[in-house]
Amino acid sequence: MSSAPSPEIPLDAGAGPKHNPHVSVVVPIYNEADGLLDLHARLSDVMEGSGLSYEIVYINDGSSDNSGKLLRGIHAESPHVKFLDLLRNSGQVAALSAGFAHIAGDIIVTMDGDGQMEPEDIPLLVREIEEGSDVVSGWRTSRRDSWFGRALPSMFANYMIRKLSGVPMHDYGCSLKAYRRELVDALKFDEYRAFNQAVLISLAGKWAEIPVRHYPRPHGKSKWNLFKLFQFNLDNLVSLSVYSFQWMAIAGAVLALIGLLLAPAFFFLAHKRSLIGLAASLNLALSLVGVSTLGILVALSGEFVVRIYHMVDKRPKWILREILEPRSGL
Ligand code: UDP
Ligand code: MG
Repeated sequence: MSSAPSPEIPLDAGAGPKHNPHVSVVVPIYNEADGLLDLHARLSDVMEGSGLSYEIVYINDGSSDNSGKLLRGIHAESPHVKFLDLLRNSGQVAALSAGFAHIAGDIIVTMDGDGQMEPEDIPLLVREIEEGSDVVSGWRTSRRDSWFGRALPSMFANYMIRKLSGVPMHDYGCSLKAYRRELVDALKFDEYRAFNQAVLISLAGKWAEIPVRHYPRPHGKSKWNLFKLFQFNLDNLVSLSVYSFQWMAIAGAVLALIGLLLAPAFFFLAHKRSLIGLAASLNLALSLVGVSTLGILVALSGEFVVRIYHMVDKRPKWILREILEPRSGL
């Protein structure tokens, strides 16, 4: 493989003054070779037709199929494409984080590279930001994913994030979103700070949502499974953590109160020979609830400790193998 150009020296260095594009569209790619050329054709048609100045930032997240090679070809032919090649597969969130660390635009749009979203919806999101919103979320009013594997867990996740963030948005999981640059810059994304859309949304002064189209995956299959979804939502829980600990504290206090109130009842039941079994089972059930609550609290604290350790240890969430700047001079 040819040696990587320095991130500091764009390939078009010397081609004239650089102007920042108005919009950066960030698209993470992991094994999407089958639909990539089609996706790029649709996306660039929309961006060209919109009259906006733009860059498309493709992040190859360690694909093991032909995606990396195809993206290189796309970069060579399309002057508005920035190409980030990650060292290994690091996950959708890490790939987006890498993209956010390398954006040039005033408005940042995120979109999946799997052909499930409609690029034509992008200018609508951009307009909302131009009109004053800090975040605009797509809202998949008719979502075309499997019910049990994706839509149902998403309903729980949306409910939890709505409660934790205090922002009553419908579709936190929709990857088609737009952000104002000032909001993104406030979090200073780099290889140690993972992108988290719930946190960005919770910091926004003004947000909006727009119904967007959603299609079944034309190629390949979803890279998410129930465990990855659990990890993702644990990240949301921890990232919006002040509230989660407060809720845990309330749950602990309520359990303690119930235990205290029930103690005399257990005592009474245990002294009635025929009810000893009932008293013991109730006691056991309550103790199990108490111990589990404690277990969750310990796990949550552990998650914090590990995060702090990784931060102190300066362990990157993604590593860049190579970056190819847009050739447009934008
Ligand atoms: N993706 C990625 N790294 C991964 C998994 C996924 O960059 O480890 C990309 C994937 O190529 C797609 C987007 O993230 O562009 C969304 O992935 P997917 O379609 O699997 O998620 P879903 O639509 O099921 O939420
Ligand atoms: Mg998808």
